[in-house]
Amino acid sequence: MATAVVGVDLGGTNVRAAVLNREGELLSAPVQHPSRAQEGFRITLEQIVLTIREAIDASGVAPAAIGMAVPGHIDSARGVVRWAPNFGEQRGEIFEVWRDVPLGDAVRARLNLPVVMGNDANLAALGEYYYGVGRGQARGLVMLTLGTGIGGGVVLTRHQVQGNAHWDGGVLLVGLGGGAGELGHAILNFGGPRCGCGARGCIEAYAKRDAIVELAREEARRNPNSLLNALTEGDPAKITPALVSQAAEQGDPTAIAIWQEIGAYLGVAIATFINIFNPEVVAIGGQIAKAGAPLFDAIHRTVRDYALPTLLQDCQIAPAERIEDAGILGGAALAWQAVEARR
Ligand SMILES: [Zn+2]
Repeated sequence: MATAVVGVDLGGTNVRAAVLNREGELLSAPVQHPSRAQEGFRITLEQIVLTIREAIDASGVAPAAIGMAVPGHIDSARGVVRWAPNFGEQRGEIFEVWRDVPLGDAVRARLNLPVVMGNDANLAALGEYYYGVGRGQARGLVMLTLGTGIGGGVVLTRHQVQGNAHWDGGVLLVGLGGGAGELGHAILNFGGPRCGCGARGCIEAYAKRDAIVELAREEARRNPNSLLNALTEGDPAKITPALVSQAAEQGDPTAIAIWQEIGAYLGVAIATFINIFNPEVVAIGGQIAKAGAPLFDAIHRTVRDYALPTLLQDCQIAPAERIEDAGILGGAALAWQAVEARR
């Protein structure tokens, strides 16, 4: 019987991997190497293989499968990266990003183990469902991952569908070809700021890391007495979300107001997700979620104004519990589902 799987978090900077047991416990510390994402597929593949091999060696056990979390549009059924803008290679004048790269087969061929993969934010939701705030038993979980962008994931249980649904536990909504769950591109305002996706007014354009920093710089300039200016010695380039949190914790009204504004944007979007999916849990992950009470208080207040009351009654909005190893845990959760399916 299988006792372990490998969880892999492939990022634009680093690739990390660890071997985990069925309970989602890491059997040894994660192994990490640069992903060398801009140097072409063959080099990145070598980095992935090296990282996985070292993780398996460190754990001392033989894993039954590999689950990989990859940022981009991932066709999980075929193990193909449809599009991953952080990965590619310079060819003359043009940076060619990964398109239709058969990553799953390539890793399988090198390591001789079954490989499953999915979008990193989708898998973060699956990991949080099984090993975090979902406890493996919540009746549905929707997750937002707040960071450079805003990722999303939707874990559905049979409690949320009508008809012939017999599956146990949580399954990911991936859509046709693996593109579903892009909650960060839910549109708050069709005339709003331009988003990286090309549309306007997506929640990501309002609440991604750079948008928070930009808002904070503007507010620091408008409020010369704000602690933000003292903490940065008047240099707005030093403002980070962590610094806004530090100022908010010390009671700075400007910093608190920044999180209230960001929380209000997120609250409107979350209310929409609650109305669509009626989940038992909405988890907020990513480094920005560490802003804590000032952010979450504003989210709760706004959601009360915008979500349907009976749906909200059954729903808990909570910080994710496994922020640091979200990709590894999500990959492992998917790998365990593949192992179970084979039995
Ligand atoms: Zn967008």
